[in-house]
Amino acid sequence: MGVKVVKFGGSSLADAGQMKKAADIIKADKNRRYVVPSAPGKRFSDDIKVTDLLYKCYGLAEKGDDFSEVLEEIHSRYREIISGLGMDFSIDEDIKIIEADFKKRFGSNYAASRGEYLNGKVLAAYLGFPFVDAAEVIFFSADGSLDQEKTAQALRNALADKEYAVIPGFYGCGADGYVRTFSRGGSDVTGSIVAGAVRASLYENWTDVSGFLVADPRIVKNPEPIRTITYTELRELSYMGASVLHEEAIFPVRSAGIPINIKNTNDPSAPGTMIVPESHDEEVSAYTITGIAGKKNFSAINLHKDRMNSQIGFCRDVLDVLAENGICIEHMPSSIDSMTVIIDSAHIDGKQDEIVTQIRKRVKPDDIYVEEGIALVAVVGRGMCRTRGVAARIFAALAHARINVKMIDQGSSELNVIVGVNEEDFEQAIRCIYDIFVTAAK
Ligand code: ASP
Repeated sequence: MGVKVVKFGGSSLADAGQMKKAADIIKADKNRRYVVPSAPGKRFSDDIKVTDLLYKCYGLAEKGDDFSEVLEEIHSRYREIISGLGMDFSIDEDIKIIEADFKKRFGSNYAASRGEYLNGKVLAAYLGFPFVDAAEVIFFSADGSLDQEKTAQALRNALADKEYAVIPGFYGCGADGYVRTFSRGGSDVTGSIVAGAVRASLYENWTDVSGFLVADPRIVKNPEPIRTITYTELRELSYMGASVLHEEAIFPVRSAGIPINIKNTNDPSAPGTMIVPESHDEEVSAYTITGIAGKKNFSAINLHKDRMNSQIGFCRDVLDVLAENGICIEHMPSSIDSMTVIIDSAHIDGKQDEIVTQIRKRVKPDDIYVEEGIALVAVVGRGMCRTRGVAARIFAALAHARINVKMIDQGSSELNVIVGVNEEDFEQAIRCIYDIFVTAAK
């Protein structure tokens, strides 16, 4: 086995006890060489993450208000970790520098990044690994996207002579030379970038759940875990609301063909979920489907016009109106004389009447009306294209549960079937699809 890059999330490093678990995991396998930590997360459900305390603290500093109390709260979180680990180590000097930098208005990105920076220093000292500041190895371009080449080169140079290292997650250096962060949860992205740069054999992402589940546990009771999922399937499920990993974390490892293993710090022997390239996957899920996810709050713009199919440019004109209003479309089922455009309701909030008027003017439909309160449910599985009767089972289950299907869409990859239902039927739709594929197969 080659190099493993391991990322630990905030809940895995929230206090000394969790930090010790993480360190034991790292030490248990000498291939776990490069470690990417988050900032300390929540210790209990209504606790506050250090990152959120930093945003709050900087908010006060920016207004010129006294921020010493919040800074002391942050400092004490680290002091507790350090003393709980029995370390002879201090971050007092760093806190002084942070205080001065806040007064100099170094920006909220810089402020938020200090959670990972300090945690990285503590963890590196505890493990006895060198600390590599992410601001020296992760670079952004002027447009805010990652400067891939410069980053990969800098990471390789910095790590060439280091067998082990801790590289804090979530931030890097912006094109203007100031610290810049990824979006929230971005340490997942740092881990993936490091894994890609050192051509790791595996990217382990340690969190507080044993991987992905076939369905949302708030909807389905004790859903089965997903053992293996491909990058593409994961993209489909995350887009539809399944969240364990930052959406952007797939790309750097995907292009290098490196698998990701989602693991649970509180249950390290559980296999978790393996996210693999399409070509690596021999094992197809026992349930034909890999996962079910969905989202509420969609709207449908329904249009009807006699002989619509022979009016050249009808669809294009409708889509033009939406594009001109900056609205992206999710799905577009159509028939001979009618078409429906499904969009995220938040995108047409407050603009609905105006858009309907513009479409009326442009294509003169016989009828146009907007329907709100639609939920989309995605049934995803690489095994679906090889199995007959998948659609039949989905729709039989929905019909049996007396759920009216408002829209059907099967992607050309045959990797997913998306159904639109009324929002009131959303949870029941997911439960009955889960039952027919998973409960019935057990
Ligand atoms: N600490 C950051 C956040 O809370 C980044 C991360 O945890 O990945 O979003």
